Amino acid sequence: MASVPAKKILIIEDERDILQLVKLYLEKEGFRTVTASTGAEGLNSAKQSKPDLIVLDLMLPEIDGLEVCKRLRSAPETAMLPIIMLTAKAEESDQVIGLELGADDYVTKPFSPKALVARVKALFRRTDRSRQESQTAYHYGKLAMDLDRHEVTVQGKDVPLTAKEFGLLEHLLRHPGRVLTREVLLNQVWGYDYFGTTRTVDVHVRRLKQKIPLLDEAILSVKSLGYKLKVLD
Ligand code: CA
Repeated sequence: MASVPAKKILIIEDERDILQLVKLYLEKEGFRTVTASTGAEGLNSAKQSKPDLIVLDLMLPEIDGLEVCKRLRSAPETAMLPIIMLTAKAEESDQVIGLELGADDYVTKPFSPKALVARVKALFRRTDRSRQESQTAYHYGKLAMDLDRHEVTVQGKDVPLTAKEFGLLEHLLRHPGRVLTREVLLNQVWGYDYFGTTRTVDVHVRRLKQKIPLLDEAILSVKSLGYKLKVLD
């Protein structure tokens, strides 16, 4: 059996003790780590060292964690990277903003390193699952998508969609809870050689919502970034 290289995690944290502690625990679990102590360094490292996941501190000097998150989500090569944000307890509203800007999960300081490791593993499970190409059907509440038949139904009733609407919906269903920027959606659904503007995405999202009313509340608009499909409980 060929050995799979250990997953690489980038830790961006300016507090040295916390950085070392997180690094130690992740390495103990068999992960490879890369570290950065400023936002700028972290952004650079995210592109250079190609991590599989990022642990990102919210309070960083100069470029803070929210801005780092936003920039990562806006660049095609880092847009889909799983991000766990470290926040302080007093910053409740920042946690919400963090998730809106595209962090996949957050852990509140002070935290136990074991709890963080558990979150990292859970997030990997989630993203690995959504990356599996073998999936040919999606269910979302009363909505069902069958990729083999190229069919979308709501409560068993056929909903005719154009190819782009179908592709857009498929992409959202494959990544519930993740912020997908307009650029990423354009590239994935329309292709890299498409010359349209990002407004095209907005128009198609609006049409999807008109055709499938349950998506009206399910597809959330994320300010200045893109869209996210609400995770169903
Ligand atoms: Ca900090």
